[in-house]
Amino acid sequence: MSDCIFCNIVAGNIPANKVFEDDDFLAFHDIAPKADTHLLVIPKQHIVNLDDLTAEHAGLMGKLMLTLPKIASQQGLSGYRTITNTGAEGGQEVFHMHFHILGGSALPGF
Ligand code: AMP
Repeated sequence: MSDCIFCNIVAGNIPANKVFEDDDFLAFHDIAPKADTHLLVIPKQHIVNLDDLTAEHAGLMGKLMLTLPKIASQQGLSGYRTITNTGAEGGQEVFHMHFHILGGSALPGF
């Protein structure tokens, strides 16, 4: 989608500090970090958020769940938090599904 920030990062039209890439996913540093390490992991395919998923995405989402700890480990995180915001009321600002990985120092519980 030409007006989607994250699609433009995937296409190389907008720069990002990338830490991981494979055929399906891209991970890069959040531009406004909320923790010592704050990464965003996105599917290359434009999916709006969890509400946009269908049964056809089951394999991709399974792979994503296996990819998140792989990226965290590569970044040297021994503990981390994963968050995905769904919809404006859920705090979503960029409407291309992404998982935040937050870590690098002890995080408060909630
Ligand atoms: P969310 O509120 O869950 O939609 O999170 C969107 C995140 O994307 C925020 O943490 C932003 O700081 C981050 N963000 C927005 N634009 C960029 C960008 N060009 N590069 C990296 N991170 C970005």
